[in-house]
Amino acid sequence: MEPIEHYQPEYVKRFAARDTACTCLACRNARQGFPFVSIKLKNQQRESLNIACETAAREALLNPEAFVLHTSHKPVEGETLLSAWHKTLNQQCINLAIHPSLSLEERLYAMGVLLSKAQQYHDNGTKDPVQLVSIGEQLSGLADQGVLAQQFALLPTIVENQLAALKEMGAIRLNLDLPMAGKMAMALKLSELAIMSPSRLAEHHQALNAQWQAMALFNEQPWILNNAVIYQLYHTVFPGFDGDNYGETFLRLTRYVFRIKMICALYGELTPDTVAMLVSALEEWMQQDPLPAKRQNSADYNLLCGLSLL
Ligand SMILES: [Zn+2]
Repeated sequence: MEPIEHYQPEYVKRFAARDTACTCLACRNARQGFPFVSIKLKNQQRESLNIACETAAREALLNPEAFVLHTSHKPVEGETLLSAWHKTLNQQCINLAIHPSLSLEERLYAMGVLLSKAQQYHDNGTKDPVQLVSIGEQLSGLADQGVLAQQFALLPTIVENQLAALKEMGAIRLNLDLPMAGKMAMALKLSELAIMSPSRLAEHHQALNAQWQAMALFNEQPWILNNAVIYQLYHTVFPGFDGDNYGETFLRLTRYVFRIKMICALYGELTPDTVAMLVSALEEWMQQDPLPAKRQNSADYNLLCGLSLL
């Protein structure tokens, strides 16, 4: 059989080249081989890391070059074929996620538009990867002309969805490698989200948003949050292999970004290392938390909910 393409991003390469084993909380309790992950497909293989490991999270998030891909060839090990449609959709999402003319939120918005079109083709049974490339090119052109940014600015804000997402965050438990006082403080800040009165939650939401906006770190090092998004796109071969409700996977992605923002704002003073610690702990929690039961909402409805969290 023909050898297939094998991808190793810079974050994996750098982690693999470490002299000493990682001793973060997740690695101390992990099985052999953690945090290395190989996504073995019939027609390509992707190397990655589970960023529940804090060192892995630092490598993936804090280095602007983390997603430079080193490509080689190797024999096939996987069974699942990555279809041309899925492969192209994943690539177009990644292209939008690194578009130089767009902010992070605008990039996610552009992905939402792409996925909405992709869903239409999917539902009509007229899937052709060429269509995805064409939509990707159109979106890229609109981004360069500033049109996407204008459209994004005109999106109505649906505060209720953001408040519901914030309230849900009361269930999150972060296993942070911090002294007890710091750990407890963060646990309380999260759990009180679930029990705040609606008016108190709305005030709190405004304050957290203001806090987030004022954080210079994410303007100075915009790749940190963007890398968190690219990681999800690459690692899960977004929009993933389970199901074909693209709206649902989009909502999951924007909810993830929303949670990171709110957790950072709740935490307060941040360094890049602290952000990596928080994202790593969030990742660990999400892996242990069973996915919420599917609410059987339509892809369109989910897409709108996803957009409302930007
Ligand atoms: Zn580790």
